[in-house]
Amino acid sequence: MPNYESKNHRGYNDRNDRRQHGAGNHYRPNNDHRPNRRPRQETPQVQVEVGQRFPLTIKRMGINGEGIGYYKRMAVFIPGALTDEEVVAEVTSVATRYLRAKIHRVRKTSPHRVEPRDSYADQVGGFELEHLDYPGQLAFKRDVVAQSLERYKPEGYRHYDLHPTLGMDDPYGYRNKAQFQVRRNAEGKVEAGLYAERSHDLVDLETCSVQMPVTMTVMRAVVQMLQDLDMPIYDEEAESGIVKTLVVRAAAHTDDVQLVVITNSSKLPHKHDLLTRIADELPQVTSVMQNINPGKTSLIWGDETVHLAGEETITEKLDGLAFKLSARAFLQLNPAQMEVLYGEAKKALDLQPGETVVDAYSGIGTIGLSLADVAEEVRGMDVIPEAVADSNENAAANGITNAHYELGTAEELLPKWIMSGFHPDAIVVDPPRTGLDDTLIETLLAVRPPKLVYISCNPSTLAKDLVDLTHDYQVDYIQSVDMMPQTARCEAVVKLSRRH
Ligand code: SAH
Repeated sequence: MPNYESKNHRGYNDRNDRRQHGAGNHYRPNNDHRPNRRPRQETPQVQVEVGQRFPLTIKRMGINGEGIGYYKRMAVFIPGALTDEEVVAEVTSVATRYLRAKIHRVRKTSPHRVEPRDSYADQVGGFELEHLDYPGQLAFKRDVVAQSLERYKPEGYRHYDLHPTLGMDDPYGYRNKAQFQVRRNAEGKVEAGLYAERSHDLVDLETCSVQMPVTMTVMRAVVQMLQDLDMPIYDEEAESGIVKTLVVRAAAHTDDVQLVVITNSSKLPHKHDLLTRIADELPQVTSVMQNINPGKTSLIWGDETVHLAGEETITEKLDGLAFKLSARAFLQLNPAQMEVLYGEAKKALDLQPGETVVDAYSGIGTIGLSLADVAEEVRGMDVIPEAVADSNENAAANGITNAHYELGTAEELLPKWIMSGFHPDAIVVDPPRTGLDDTLIETLLAVRPPKLVYISCNPSTLAKDLVDLTHDYQVDYIQSVDMMPQTARCEAVVKLSRRH
């Protein structure tokens, strides 16, 4: 079975596939330019103790969605607090240059504060902004881009045209994939959900407002079946039991649904009964797979995936093209906004007939293949063999003959292609959260393709990369797109053009 999701793989291993310390929940926020890890053991600038309380006015919001105020000129990060609110803060940790605190009480409430739909929003990652109204969330995301630019100061950044963030009409029910840990609680009840932040305490998610409803229907029905059939559930401490994780992914445009049961061993007792019940009670499930991930590990997925029932893959449609998805294939988590994001990339590229384009960091080829009807030639690359194979298969299956994907890094392959005489008119880069490799930036500056579009899932590394890119390119505009409503995450499409 194709089996991919490298550590770099955006949206997957980097924040979805690790289990320890709450990171196993796939809603983990980013931790980029904010000092929130382990407080350093130096003397703080201000005498203050954990548990101490003081009034605090929230001045702005940090890139991870927390409120920031100042106590004796020291920054205080306070999750759940909104700009202009006045709160009583209670210190939870003390570092040299900043404090972390929780809200003890809100004294003055922001007019943008709303009641989160999910009762556990302040416990598990991924709901950092659920207490902020949606216009507030969109404004926040544009501001995160502005804050990142302010921090790295790429050339001319004060004059960049930052378009308002493109959001959803209904910023709920969008997530096509649920990946929940399973365990049996002390009373013997089977639970499935996400770990509370910085812990291994599972929060049972009976409902989840950001998931596509069908993913939750299937998830909860299967949890009930595990309970009824008394299936052996993995127990982390005892390192015993079988079922570790359930993954449900739905295709928005074909109604295909895949269930993957991730297990501690290749054995799955009561498998037959489980599959019979799924067939009888969940006709919407078109594919059932088992992934085997033995032992105590921080990774959610193991190397081996076996077919249990139905099809081996599900198919998603995008822009009139069909994409087959194996269990571990990467796909953006928000199908509706995926079209918006790719539409913006297309608009920024403004490809003309006869032009050639490189789809760098191509995943399963979604971006490049949707450009193939206009382009003379599309070339793409990714570091994951199965993704590259899928891209080429997807091209063939859709009758596309002018697109080719190669295995390798962007920084190696692009110079190689150019040396062999291929000079692309346009390049679109869509790197993982770490941003572009220095060598690739050097190549881009040496090759100077007329059109360059940068799709970013991390405003910090984007701003950093722009410092170099703006030596030769100007930023025409930055269009942020909200791919993950209710979270603090932000994606952006940057249109760059060569300086004269
Ligand atoms: N464009 C795709 C995938 C983006 S995710 C989409 O929209 O779905 C980023 C991709 O970059 C991943 O598939 C990852 O495997 C790949 N990648 C990571 N490092 C890379 C590198 N150095 N060169 C090329 N691809 C890389």
